[in-house]
Amino acid sequence: MGAGPIDPTLLDRFEAIVGPAHAVRLEAEIAPYVHELRGLYPGRSPLVLKPGSVEEVSRILALATETGTAVVPQGGNTGLVGGQVPHGAGNEIVVSLSRLNRVRAIDPLSNTVTVEAGVVLETLHQVADAVDRLFPLSLASQGSCQIGGNLSSNAGGTAVLAYGNTRELCLGVEVVLPTGEVLDDLRKLKKDNTGYDLKNLFVGAEGTLGIITAAVMKLFPRPKGRQVGWVGVKSPEDALALFGLASERAGNNLTAFELIGKLPLDFVMQYTPGAVAPLQPEWPWNVLVEISSGRSSEDATNLMGEILTSGLEQGIAGDAVIAASLAQADAFWALRENLSDAQRPEGGSIKHDISVPVASIPTFIARAAEAVTSVSPQARVVCFGHMGDGNLHYNVSQPAGGDKEAFLGLYRAMNKAVHDIVHELGGSISAEHGIGQLKRDELLATAPSVATDLMRRIKANFDPAGIMNPGKLL
Ligand code: ZN
Repeated sequence: MGAGPIDPTLLDRFEAIVGPAHAVRLEAEIAPYVHELRGLYPGRSPLVLKPGSVEEVSRILALATETGTAVVPQGGNTGLVGGQVPHGAGNEIVVSLSRLNRVRAIDPLSNTVTVEAGVVLETLHQVADAVDRLFPLSLASQGSCQIGGNLSSNAGGTAVLAYGNTRELCLGVEVVLPTGEVLDDLRKLKKDNTGYDLKNLFVGAEGTLGIITAAVMKLFPRPKGRQVGWVGVKSPEDALALFGLASERAGNNLTAFELIGKLPLDFVMQYTPGAVAPLQPEWPWNVLVEISSGRSSEDATNLMGEILTSGLEQGIAGDAVIAASLAQADAFWALRENLSDAQRPEGGSIKHDISVPVASIPTFIARAAEAVTSVSPQARVVCFGHMGDGNLHYNVSQPAGGDKEAFLGLYRAMNKAVHDIVHELGGSISAEHGIGQLKRDELLATAPSVATDLMRRIKANFDPAGIMNPGKLL
């Protein structure tokens, strides 16, 4: 990465690859590509390229390697760790994959779909739906995030419990390497033992090894029935016992098990117009359970009824309600999906995206609460997440009426206190959002040096000129 600005004649050469209609050079039009949602990483760039073919991507990267020009690949720009935006120096080119948005093939019999990187996740849902199949990856940002970004960040979301994260949904990739070479591994194989799993180096690499231009993704039979229940529980221990009961009874039909603390639910009630609390009186903890059935909606409802009745009889569920209609099921999910937005009016928030073994969730919650208090006695824990995956969004809101800047000044200290517990429990400090700029230093400081050293060696081999998304992840 050169230190100075990029020479204008070089910018012209890049522009010529995609044509002037698909190169953005005006600062005002570049703005949406260099700022991310949270406003944490204001970036700059002299040029955004929107290639329309794999060949154009290949020529861009070859020229970038030849001239030592840094490249930042970008999908829907919905990432939460600053991995998809350039740094502030203004000497990196953004490559937007949004025009590579074709569905190349769909094969319902093999249960696969071959899509280009710029396909929006919601579009992929519709494409699958049209052939009576399910593409399960489900995220709050699905209306704008793109499958290339989902792959690069190995996105998680609310369907991981039954179907796995993006990595587990991917069978093959097509990748443009920094040299411009194209690795075509768009095979639809479930079984393939032919050496190193190259595909999985690019999935989750956050654009540091090459640019994924297309992928073969798995499809599933569309469930014939779905039922959602809302359960009030006394404690995370009871939630864990209920999870054990639900997984035992439902197996793979248990498609979501989300834990929601009282405070985040209170915020949703306060700030979301029309929100209705599923249970009165309120419980210290809530669980949203979803059951799917390959047979019928009655089957899903019966199974849900069985699980909740057992839970109530055993005293691990305090109170429970089954959605009486699809609309009510959606309303329960809306409460879950509005948790992040509803936290915003409460001021500064220090965030953690952690995972621990599922059985350690209650221990983590108890110990993390003490850690938070030791850093900021009046801070408020906003804990919710995908309990079935061992993944919590453990957010901490500033003290009510307190000073936002002073609180955010505690960001690193709070992260360290919480993450120390995560490490002790054998967990991860980035369960589903990635590393990007946000957690890079912490990853390098806390991951085993053998691991980070191996990652550096892989990076140097794939990208000797260091042009691919420099300063992210590593
Ligand atoms: Zn999540």
